[in-house]
Amino acid sequence: MPSDGENMSNDHGSLFATALTQFNRGADLIGLSDDLRQILSQPKNEIIVNFPVKMDDGRFEVFTGYRIQHNNVLGPYKGGVRFSPLVNLDEVKALASWMTWKSALCDIPFGGAKGGISFDPHRCSSEELERVVRRFTHSLGGNIGPDYDIPAPDLGSNSQTMVWMMDTYANSTGSSERQNVKRVVTGKTLETGGSHGREKATGQGVVFCLQHWADEVGFDLSSATVALQGWGNVGSATGRILQVHGAKVLAVSDHAGAIADQDGIDAFDLTDWVQENGSVKGYPNADWIEPSDLWSADVDILIPAALENQITADNANDIKAKVVVEAANGPTTLEAEEILSEKSVDVLPDILVNAGGVIVSYFEWLQNRSAQRWDLDDVDHRLREILWAAADSVVALQKDRESSSRRDAAYAVALQRLKTVYNQRGIFP
Ligand code: GLU
Repeated sequence: MPSDGENMSNDHGSLFATALTQFNRGADLIGLSDDLRQILSQPKNEIIVNFPVKMDDGRFEVFTGYRIQHNNVLGPYKGGVRFSPLVNLDEVKALASWMTWKSALCDIPFGGAKGGISFDPHRCSSEELERVVRRFTHSLGGNIGPDYDIPAPDLGSNSQTMVWMMDTYANSTGSSERQNVKRVVTGKTLETGGSHGREKATGQGVVFCLQHWADEVGFDLSSATVALQGWGNVGSATGRILQVHGAKVLAVSDHAGAIADQDGIDAFDLTDWVQENGSVKGYPNADWIEPSDLWSADVDILIPAALENQITADNANDIKAKVVVEAANGPTTLEAEEILSEKSVDVLPDILVNAGGVIVSYFEWLQNRSAQRWDLDDVDHRLREILWAAADSVVALQKDRESSSRRDAAYAVALQRLKTVYNQRGIFP
């Protein structure tokens, strides 16, 4: 399997092709012109860097890194960097476009980008990882910047990664500029310029979106049962916050396997276990189940919080949940979505549901810009306001255009904002 390439596909075909199909459905809903479809159907810039890193044993290894800048008409390019052996150009293009729609839908002044390095960070020592991250940042050079393109954490990267990126970038600017460039990345540690609430932001946003949906359809979240795929940053924060609201997590899976308990799995206890042991494997306070059984778990809410293309034509029919909440980016294939729609399972779309991360990144960027520190209540309050306003617009558009899908409606809201700005600004020259 190639590690990169325009047409790389996995079992479910090109992820970017899926993203384009979703885009075109939203575009149909608002009658987007062919001109704008052409512009928005491709990223503005596709940057690929191959850079050498000295490994602990003295060898040099060449890594391939990506930064795809999809669109910046609403603000600076913005989006995470993903470290995984599965990272490839097609995937990063899809993820970058989803960032554009996410920011537009939530009406925050950012564009969309995504980056990554095709490697497994777990096979590197901490020193090697630091050299990889610093050298990647250096290779990107002026392609990122505090008002130009602002990376953040994603799968396989974290707040330490962001601090290394920030420090590397700052050290390549003049000394009088150094304090000014902290906001070149978001998702930093609190001590080094991060924001309260950024670590849990995506999970918190997932729960705010669920609350909005529960209110809309008359569902009681405090007695809900939940199955979660993925117990990383997003999945575990979502599980813990839902538990605080009274919901019960009945099943969890991750890369190492799956566990279930009819009486509920303690999300805090499981988080401690995974932190110490690296996965849910061997967790003593639940039963070991087949990972595929997670999809058929008898729960109200199913939350994919891991990778793309997880809910497929093979497992969508087994789903018993009332609602699928896309905490991951692109977890549902197009075929699976049709099956879910036929079964009247609500799908809360990724570009709304997991936007909490980029929204609190925006808060971090604003705080860095004005040398302020907002408290956690303030951050949470502002996050909820933005997400609920976005969710309101999706519901309103869905009713107005009689769209059957929340995803199409969410795209339509986002695209309408982009369309308005393109129409006002025109195309230069
Ligand atoms: N990686 C996250 C996402 O996919 C956050 C991006 C950001 O904060 O810029 O939404």
